[in-house]
Amino acid sequence: MTHGSGQSPHRSGPTEKCGVVGVALDDRAAARPLYYSLYALQHRGQESAGIVTHDGFQQHDHVSMGLVGDAFDEADIERLNGESGIGHVRYPTAGSLDKSCAQPFTVSFKSGSLALSHNGNLVNADEIRDELAGLGHAFTSDGDTEVIAHDLARNLLEADLVRAVKRTMSRIHGSYSLTIMHDETVLGVRDPEGNRPLCIGELEDGYVLASESAAIDTLDGDLVRDVEPGELVVLHEDGSGFDSYQLVERENTAHCFFEHVYFARPDSVIDDELVYEVRRELGRQLWDESGIETDVVMPVPDSGRAFASGYAEASQEAGAGTEFAEGLMKNRYVGRTFIMPTQDERERAVRLKLNPIKSTVEGKTVTLIDDSIVRGTTSTQLVALLKDCGAEEVHMRIGAPPIVAPCYMGIDMATREELIAANQDVDDIRDAIEADSLSYLSIDAVAKALSRSRADLCLGCVTGEYPYDIDGEATDREVERPVIEGADLAADD
Ligand code: AMP
Repeated sequence: MTHGSGQSPHRSGPTEKCGVVGVALDDRAAARPLYYSLYALQHRGQESAGIVTHDGFQQHDHVSMGLVGDAFDEADIERLNGESGIGHVRYPTAGSLDKSCAQPFTVSFKSGSLALSHNGNLVNADEIRDELAGLGHAFTSDGDTEVIAHDLARNLLEADLVRAVKRTMSRIHGSYSLTIMHDETVLGVRDPEGNRPLCIGELEDGYVLASESAAIDTLDGDLVRDVEPGELVVLHEDGSGFDSYQLVERENTAHCFFEHVYFARPDSVIDDELVYEVRRELGRQLWDESGIETDVVMPVPDSGRAFASGYAEASQEAGAGTEFAEGLMKNRYVGRTFIMPTQDERERAVRLKLNPIKSTVEGKTVTLIDDSIVRGTTSTQLVALLKDCGAEEVHMRIGAPPIVAPCYMGIDMATREELIAANQDVDDIRDAIEADSLSYLSIDAVAKALSRSRADLCLGCVTGEYPYDIDGEATDREVERPVIEGADLAADD
């Protein structure tokens, strides 16, 4: 879902960078495994958490603002009866602390009940909402998840589950990894471009769908595989297996590279790649492309760690005497600085969050490694901090290309005006952050580390060209945006 960045050409709604999960078990309540999986996916969203279960007769739900640990107490879990269910954690965005956008979203209609958890962002939600509103559907939020729910509910009046999902997929355009519960049946759907992750896991007594495999590990399950782009997975109600329907096929995918660079947990496997290994490989590529010999190389914790370890390893293999050092300590009780509403607060928060170990940097030349630069707040603060601590030189190396354009596909990035690389070249940015040198990774190195061609990645934030048809933005491929207003009803089932 999108939120009013002031930049987006779309009606504002909350930006969704979320975690989704779904579970179907044999003879065991689904609520507790769902709760644990949401804990494992907490990094994907801290604003609200919710679970909806179905006991064969009716739905039970508990959706609350806050972290998973605060959103549920024992009594809430006990009340969530049923052996199947779905869950959601939602990412916070300044100004959108609004319960109407918390998920899973639920709706009852003539042929049953639906609950939906969505990670991603539709770019044509307004068109579909307008059409459905004209047909009498009443909307309670401005979010795109509700649009998917209403569209699916309407299609379910005329078609079976698989056809109804296919019809909805033919109408919605954008990124979506969904877990859905129709009565007690749990489904998973991944958009035809595979933009956001979704995977299937096997438990002793059932199956699970989750944004990331770390959630499956937490339940002592085994990762079966990723849900394929354009695939619908239907979990058997008795936990005995799942059915797969490849509903839409595209020549190319558009996997979000930033999931691997920043967003996902390093211990998750996404699209067959362990995120930790991808980050280490990105670090190695960074050394190959722009390595510089300094006394120490240190990560910006936590996200820079795997990059710095790969970078340091490659530098040592190349005979450079660069020592890996953890020179910045992180206060783990400070939340994400990124979402602080003002620049002043963001700067203070970086200082609250990270503190250098003086003896590691004093009198040394330092290479500082981070996964990305967005507004430039973190790097500016850290370069100054390390110099204050006596670093002789500070060289920044970044494990991603410059972020030059906003993300419309579900990662809360900042607006074009706020992005430091949107209108400045690397030399200007180096001057702005006062580093002795600055290098980013190339797009080709990212594709190489991910073992994919550029044509199979969503690179919108680093190229300004998107794999979806977004109003006012360029595309990087032939994209067909569905024509709304009746045309879908004639869609080929
Ligand atoms: P900035 O300080 O604005 O340049 O942001 C860069 C820092 O924020 C880096 O340390 C990244 O690890 C982190 N970061 C990058 N993207 C995001 C995001 N979408 N949400 C929160 N933090 C991010």
